[in-house]
Amino acid sequence: MSTAKHETPNYRSSRLFGRLWAGYLRHYKALMALAFAVMVVEGSTLGALSYLLKPLFDKVFTPGGEDALIWVGFAILGLFVLRAITSITSKTLLTTIAQRSSSAMQVDLLRHILTLDAGFFQTNPPGALIERVQGDTLAVQAVWANVITGVGRDAISLIGLFAVALSIDPGWTLAALIGAPLLIAPALVIQRYIRRKTAAMRNDAGSRATRLDEVFHGIQAVKLNRMEDYQTSRFQEIVNRLVRAEIKIVLSRSTIPALVDVVTGLGFFAVLMLGGSQIIEGERSIGDFMAFFSAMALTFQPLRRMGDMAGFWQTAAASLERLFRLFDTQPAARPAATGTLPRAGDAPEIALDAVNFSYGDQTILHGLSFTAPAGKLTALVGPSGAGKSTVFNLLTAMAQPQSGRITLDGVDINTLPLPLLRGQFAVVTQDAALFDETIRDNVILGQAVGDDRLQDALRAAHVTEFVNAIPLGLDAPAGPRGSALSGGQRQRVAIARALLRDAPVLLLDEATSALDAQSEALVAEAIATAATGRTTLVIAHRLATIREADLILVMDQGRVVDQGTHEELLAHSGLYADLCKLQFQS
Ligand code: ADP
Repeated sequence: MSTAKHETPNYRSSRLFGRLWAGYLRHYKALMALAFAVMVVEGSTLGALSYLLKPLFDKVFTPGGEDALIWVGFAILGLFVLRAITSITSKTLLTTIAQRSSSAMQVDLLRHILTLDAGFFQTNPPGALIERVQGDTLAVQAVWANVITGVGRDAISLIGLFAVALSIDPGWTLAALIGAPLLIAPALVIQRYIRRKTAAMRNDAGSRATRLDEVFHGIQAVKLNRMEDYQTSRFQEIVNRLVRAEIKIVLSRSTIPALVDVVTGLGFFAVLMLGGSQIIEGERSIGDFMAFFSAMALTFQPLRRMGDMAGFWQTAAASLERLFRLFDTQPAARPAATGTLPRAGDAPEIALDAVNFSYGDQTILHGLSFTAPAGKLTALVGPSGAGKSTVFNLLTAMAQPQSGRITLDGVDINTLPLPLLRGQFAVVTQDAALFDETIRDNVILGQAVGDDRLQDALRAAHVTEFVNAIPLGLDAPAGPRGSALSGGQRQRVAIARALLRDAPVLLLDEATSALDAQSEALVAEAIATAATGRTTLVIAHRLATIREADLILVMDQGRVVDQGTHEELLAHSGLYADLCKLQFQS
């Protein structure tokens, strides 16, 4: 989360709310209006209730008040029933809006994140992203549950109660408000603090998710290196930080409602002093006083909640800011691309011309040039770190070179739309990215594939043999990251997947030591079948592949240092001969 750490809260509240409204809340205008109407009714019941106390004391509890008794009784009962109905209705409506809008945001966020480039995913670990999608979007719900309800119901309650108080005695009302100015300055300071703390806290929540993600994904390494205690204590540190932040946030948030308590107490005191003496002197009735006093008492809860609302908004705003910042992150610009390939669907010739590429300051490819002939098998060999995998990343536009040209059949790949470009490649990498789904789903990847085609691909990739040996067959789960399969089986599944994709170019990163001799032979055979009729680039570790290659490119330190067939290269002694020697020995 290196970028997030330096984020400063400069997304203003009004702008955040405006975007939330425009993007997500606007669609629920009708539901919201309905919820608001219901909440107005719910809110005004409080004012009505306090208003009824005046006739109760002045008319009912007097000689001959029996007639009035029954209608005041029914009116009070009716108010409570009305309150029950409206509160259930408004809650249902608000929950519907909150859930729908926050899940819409989650889907939008995932869709957006998936458009971002490889550079983004290098600086934003999966755990932190999961936390944003799952955790920060909850903020949208918090906005609903607290801020909107506050404005809808509590503000209406307050206005109603205030009207009752004013109608009874403007002087008393003024006296009740005596402490209110005390609230303003602390509220402003605390809001800033909450926003800052919450932003830091959400960041830590991202680190927590990242830690968990890495521990569980690396469970073998954790256990084999006996890192359990180390990982637990690192996790503990983050969790402790979160606890401290959470306590500080809740504490500072409760300061405002606490201040509301003090201010209300001051108000009660002032009204009692002023009103009490007026009643003793017979200037005002007890009914007046009771109605006013109860109106004041009823303001207490809504007022506290409104006091907490600013804090709630700041907590939500911190998350919203993280979300919109992410929405505002754009993938590295790629020139507008509308080009096409001259021989669409045929295996193209691939050429790199003076390609330079670096990660930050570290130059990885130094003016790399080579041509991989159409429909042939080209092998990339060379020591680890030579830049072989980087070539694959550049071809598939997972990364952009700083300079130089990469072409398919002479067409610069930058002029091709991404879906067209990526459609040219079927890629099999070392970790054969399998998902925790059935083997079948891992092969077909959501495409509609006829059974014959599927069986052909499975046979060609030598998947059929091992699938037939498992009781569930193709419907057996592959396990998290394909962990239920052996290394060789995973590779074969990945090859079957590549075969079904039926792309004109095959990019293969051979697994090395993971395979035993038998699976190695099967994988090599599967590769040979898959390569037929395609332009194939193999990062080769096995002699079998190297020998059969039409062209071998020897790479070292980001350059092609030698090229030719196996025999030609063996004739020049040098890096290739050394590599071969190593292979033969092992
Ligand atoms: P090869 O496939 O030949 O073993 P790679 O293409 O994977 O080599 O890597 C070439 C160099 O690029 C290595 O020195 C590696 O450290 C560096 N490298 C690879 N990926 C990254 C990355 N994401 N960030 C920084 N450096 C990287």
